[in-house]
Amino acid sequence: MDFRLTEEQELIQANMREFAERYVDPIAASIDEESRYPAEVFARLAEMGWMGIPYSQEYGGAGSDYLTFTVVVEELSKSCAATGFTLSCHTALASGPIANFGTEEQKKQYLTPLCQGKHIGAFALTEPGAGTDVGAGSTTAESDGDEYILNGTKTFTSNGPIADTFVVFAVTDKTKGTKGMSAFIVPAGTPGLSVGAHFFKMGIRASQTSEIHLKNCRIPKQNLLGQEGQGFRIALQTLDNGRIQVAAQAVGIAQAALDESVKYAKERIQFGKPISANQAIQWMIADMATDISAARFLTYHAAFLKDQGRPYSKEAAMAKVFASEMANRHASKAVQIHGGYGYIKGQKVERLMRDAKITEIYEGTSEAQRMVISSNVLR
Ligand SMILES: Cc1cc2nc3c(=O)[nH]c(=O)nc-3n(C[C@H](O)[C@H](O)[C@H](O)COP(=O)(O)OP(=O)(O)OC[C@H]3O[C@@H](n4cnc5c(N)ncnc54)[C@H](O)[C@@H]3O)c2cc1C
Repeated sequence: MDFRLTEEQELIQANMREFAERYVDPIAASIDEESRYPAEVFARLAEMGWMGIPYSQEYGGAGSDYLTFTVVVEELSKSCAATGFTLSCHTALASGPIANFGTEEQKKQYLTPLCQGKHIGAFALTEPGAGTDVGAGSTTAESDGDEYILNGTKTFTSNGPIADTFVVFAVTDKTKGTKGMSAFIVPAGTPGLSVGAHFFKMGIRASQTSEIHLKNCRIPKQNLLGQEGQGFRIALQTLDNGRIQVAAQAVGIAQAALDESVKYAKERIQFGKPISANQAIQWMIADMATDISAARFLTYHAAFLKDQGRPYSKEAAMAKVFASEMANRHASKAVQIHGGYGYIKGQKVERLMRDAKITEIYEGTSEAQRMVISSNVLR
């Protein structure tokens, strides 16, 4: 057993930290305030070859492993959780299913520009009537000669307003339940596909989120991802991967909350001494540091298992539920340590507390993670 990152992983971690401090920290508060996609940051990430970290160099990826990608998302999320999530949504949720289930042609045509950062990807699974109950989706894909005709509405599509490539899930055979769901690649600009207005959110406000409308949207049969009826499986496997990244995002948020709290507790004087001299504050800091380490180990372990080709669905759900609930507890504690100042806009801990909440909701709520874990444990 070796708990260390490799030298290469440590180097990439340090590079990403430097990158985030230089290019993300200075704009993190303003992109949150303006709900703005930081295109300039993603142009730089593309230049550095970080838009397809775990995918083959043959398709423009970095040819690295999932643990490295996880560490990168954690580092980016320490500075800005919305930026970390935009990268993880693009890489794990949109490029992932094409890398794992796409044909050679699909990989050349769609995965390569995604990994090169020339295109941005989005994953459109959730519908107004199908959230946790993913299999209840009513978007249809009707076969018509050598095309499919897609009709329906997707909601909460992250990267929707900025995406060039959508992975869309739709029902091809209503009689087969979840086995009648299929996955498709739909390029932006396809007639019949329209993107709704950006949702203004509580947190991760720089991440762009919208509805996607499909109205008689015709795509060639070559854009079917995997086989007809494989969509549900593709969705679940993709979410297993994405959950490791949400866990990494939560670890990044919590670490930033701890870093801010330590700095503030040493500086803030009350009763003639720094507030860090009080045991009440010391114990909050101790609990934060301990829980963050535990969450980080769970998260890295899930990524490690995936890299080893071993089962990781339960471990990804454990990492996500633990890390996300931990981030919420401790972002709130960080605000507490900052007193009234922590409640004021412009303080990083105020943003961290808002950003932490979504990690308990997307890519499966905490309740959904517990369903995955218990079904594995009770098997
Ligand atoms: C900012 C944001 C970004 C998102 N990005 C994407 C994206 O890129 N692509 C995408 O496809 N989706 C995305 N989503 C959707 C997200 O994954 C769903 O919101 C989430 O899965 C929950 O679905 P829901 O909102 O419909 O809640 P519901 O399923 O309606 O759940 C409501 C509540 O009921 C609970 N609940 C539901 N069923 C059960 C049950 N059987 N047992 C116990 N409790 C239950 C839930 O845990 C929750 O607490 C995003 C959502 C948000 C808010």
